[in-house]
Amino acid sequence: MKKATCILLCLALMAALAGCGQPAPSRRQSVFVDLFDTVTVVAGYAETDEAFNQTAQALHDCLLDYHRLFDIYETYDGINNLKTVNDSAGIAPVAVNREIIELLLLAREIYAQTDGAVNVAMGSVLAVWHDYRTAGLADPAHAALPPEETLRRAAEHCDIQNLVIDEQAGTVYLADPEMRLDVGAIAKGYAAGRAAETLAEAGVNRLLLSVGGNVCTVGGHPEGRPWSVGVQDPENLEGFVCAVSVYTGCVVTSGNYQRYYTVGGVDYHHIIDPDSLMPADHFNAVTVVCADSGLADALSTALFVLPYARGSALIESIDGAEAMWIVDAQTTRYSSGFEALITA
Ligand code: AMP
Ligand code: MG
Repeated sequence: MKKATCILLCLALMAALAGCGQPAPSRRQSVFVDLFDTVTVVAGYAETDEAFNQTAQALHDCLLDYHRLFDIYETYDGINNLKTVNDSAGIAPVAVNREIIELLLLAREIYAQTDGAVNVAMGSVLAVWHDYRTAGLADPAHAALPPEETLRRAAEHCDIQNLVIDEQAGTVYLADPEMRLDVGAIAKGYAAGRAAETLAEAGVNRLLLSVGGNVCTVGGHPEGRPWSVGVQDPENLEGFVCAVSVYTGCVVTSGNYQRYYTVGGVDYHHIIDPDSLMPADHFNAVTVVCADSGLADALSTALFVLPYARGSALIESIDGAEAMWIVDAQTTRYSSGFEALITA
């Protein structure tokens, strides 16, 4: 991980910003489409376009490092990433960057905390859905559902006990040759949080970072007030159901509208219930607000999968975490402290 490079870039940026006679900061935005197979937006305040673009690029470069490490579809020269780990399942442990170990340790904790609702060892099942979704989007007339038997067979290889992390040796090994990791439920949030932290430590502030709906603050708002983060309306993706107010922290949404394909007039989205092996169907969207970005990402997926009563008990057990469940166009539910965060 090129954390040092990021920090150097940021220090250079801060030096540039420290000059006298700077114009007042104004609102700016950059968009990137080459990260985590989604849209990344950096928005915030800077004195000049040049200063803003330099910070946005530094954030992008941090995120790109994480993207490459956590990628399960591509390998990259000179690094062992999660595709390398998947390709070595049942063959040999793979020496990996500490960031991969950290992410997988978090994933294990999340598995325990959510009673298996979020399972990064479910890659074999998720790969079946991924392949059918990709084929269905490419050729909608022939879009099909994965056969139940194919899903059931894949589900025999999702035991997270077979994820062997050797912290001392710095290796990861999948003890089941058919098992695959898929960290889609937590990687974007984890990476966004780490990139935001790295830049904040280097003195960058006054920014909001959104990686595919995982929104993180990078420092405070220039006017000392909270940031206002819009929550997308699942019924009208141009609009917002509300805005929530955060001084620092993260706002993450999992929704059935984010990635899906259509079979026989019915939409099938990308968040899979480990019990039914089908898309979870309790809600249209779930938003989580909490200080830690990786945890927020994991929780939003978990609450999307779990029935309301279990999700509610989970969120109420976590200090400082709040949630909103958009059940359907008529019904919205909130954790005990969420409504106090709504500004509009
Ligand atoms: P998110 O948008 O954060 O809710 O994550 C959705 C992504 O997580 C999907 O695209 C899959 O890659 C992965 N995923 C889906 N269902 C699960 C699950 N039950 N446990 C772990 N990962 C999942
Ligand atoms: Mg998630």
